[in-house]
Amino acid sequence: MKLTFATGSPAEQLGDARTDLLVLAVTTTTKAWAWPAFDGRLAGDLEAEVRRQGFSGAAGQAVVVQTHGRIAVPYVLVVGVGDGAGPQPWQQLADLIVRKGRELKARRARVALYGDEWPAEGLETLAEGVWLACYSFDELKSKSKRARANGLAEVAITATRRLPEWTAALKRGHLLGAATCYARNLVNWPAAIVTPAYLAAEARALARTQGVRVRVMDERAMARAGMGALLGVAQGSAQAPRFIELVFRPRGRVHRTVALAGKGVTFDSGGLSLKPADAMQAQKRDMAGAAAVLGVMSVVRDLGLPLEVRAYIPATENMPGGRAIKPGDVVRAYDGTTIEVLNTDAEGRLVLADALAYAAERRPDVLIDLATLTGTVRTALGTRYAAVMGTDPALVQALIAAGKACGENLWELPLPPEYRSDIESSVADLKNVGEGAAGTIIGGLFLKEFTGGVPWAHVDFSSTVVTEKGFACHPRGATGFGVRTVLRYLGSL
Ligand code: MN
Ligand code: MN
Repeated sequence: MKLTFATGSPAEQLGDARTDLLVLAVTTTTKAWAWPAFDGRLAGDLEAEVRRQGFSGAAGQAVVVQTHGRIAVPYVLVVGVGDGAGPQPWQQLADLIVRKGRELKARRARVALYGDEWPAEGLETLAEGVWLACYSFDELKSKSKRARANGLAEVAITATRRLPEWTAALKRGHLLGAATCYARNLVNWPAAIVTPAYLAAEARALARTQGVRVRVMDERAMARAGMGALLGVAQGSAQAPRFIELVFRPRGRVHRTVALAGKGVTFDSGGLSLKPADAMQAQKRDMAGAAAVLGVMSVVRDLGLPLEVRAYIPATENMPGGRAIKPGDVVRAYDGTTIEVLNTDAEGRLVLADALAYAAERRPDVLIDLATLTGTVRTALGTRYAAVMGTDPALVQALIAAGKACGENLWELPLPPEYRSDIESSVADLKNVGEGAAGTIIGGLFLKEFTGGVPWAHVDFSSTVVTEKGFACHPRGATGFGVRTVLRYLGSL
C-alpha cells in the first residue's frame, strides 16, 4: 500500500480518473458537499443523500454516493469525524476508507481535505490508521486468497494547501503506522519461524537501516555475563536463546536516555508447569514485548528524536525438554539475586529480571518494559486495556497520556509494599510466584526488584496484543500494541 500527500485544487481532485473513491471528511460544522468544485454537478445529490440517511457528521457515520459519470471518480464516500477531537474519529475514518474501498473494489482512494481547519494530530492518526487498517497477514495463505484479501493499493491524501505541520504530522503517522505493522508481523508469524535467532537477525537488519548499534549475546556470552535466570528458562528448549541489545544515538546533543526492555519468549509452553492445550494455542504471542521494542527501533532514526534509545530483548523459548528447569530449582539473576522457581510458567519475570538488571546497570534516565507477563491482566482489565505500573508517577502518567493520544488504553495498577512478602522465598532471595492473588501486581513487584532505583514503568499487555474479533484499524490477529504509545511518549520528551 502506498500513502501519498499532495496538494491540488478541488477541481483537479474531482477530475482525476485514476481515483476510484473520493473521500470527504466532514465535521459537524463543515459541509464538504458544498464544495465550489462540485459546481452543481454533484452537490445536490450529495446533500439529498446525506439528508435522506440522517447523516449529521457524527464520528463514524458514512454515506456512499455513486456519481454516474458526472465526475471522473465513480464513488464519493462522505465520512463524519464529529468535532475531530481525540484519535477515535480519525481511526474510524481510516477504517471506513479501507473497508468501503475493499467493498467497492477500489484500488486508489483520494482523501480530499478542503480548507485548513484540520488538526495536525487528526491527520497524523489518519495516516497511521490507513496503515493499520490496510494491514492483513496473508503470507501463509494460498495465492488466490492473497489476491482476494488485497484492497486499496494507494491512498492519496490531498489538500488545497500544504501546511508544514500537516506534512510533518502525515510523515509521523506514516512511520508510526509502518512500525506497528512491522511489530504485528513479528507476532503473527508462527513460533517455528520467529525463534530467538530470528529476532536477533531482525535486530541486525534494523541496525543497518536505522544506524543502530547491535550486540547479540549467545548462551556462552550470557553465561559469562551471569544471566542465570534467562538461561534457566532457556535450558528446556532445543532453540538456543539470545540476548539482544540495540543502542541508538542521535547526531548532536542527547536530550535524554530511554531504555526499553521487551519480553521475547518466542513460544511459552509453560515449561514443566505445562499449560493446558487451550492456553497454549496463542503462545506465539509471548514475544509481543520484543516485537513492540523492535517496532520502536525500526523508525527511531527516521523520527529524528534527540534521544538515546536503548533496547534489550531477552529471547528464548519456554519448553519442557529433558534439561528443563524444575519447580524448586534456584537460579541466579544478572544482579546476583537468587530466585526459587516454583512455577516454570512464570518465566517472563525471570527473563526480564536479567534484562532489567542489565539495563538498569547502565543507568538510563528512564526504563520501560513491555511484556505479555500475566494471564490475570485479562481478568482485571479485559482485551482493550493494558496494565501499567511503576516507580515513577510522572513516567506512568506520561505513558498513559501517550496511549490515550493513539487509542491504546493503559490503566495504572499499584505496587503495594504490603504484597512484597508474597515473593519472599524460604530458600532463596525471591520466589517467582506469589500466593495466587493479584497476579499482575505480583509480577510487577517482582520486576521492580531488578530496576536498581532507575525510574521505571512496566506495561503488562498480555490481553491486548492480539484481537480475536478485530476493531477499527485493528484486523484480527496481532495489534502491534505498545509501538505507538512508546513512540508518542518518546516524541513528548
Ligand atoms: Mn508463562
Ligand atoms: Mn509467558
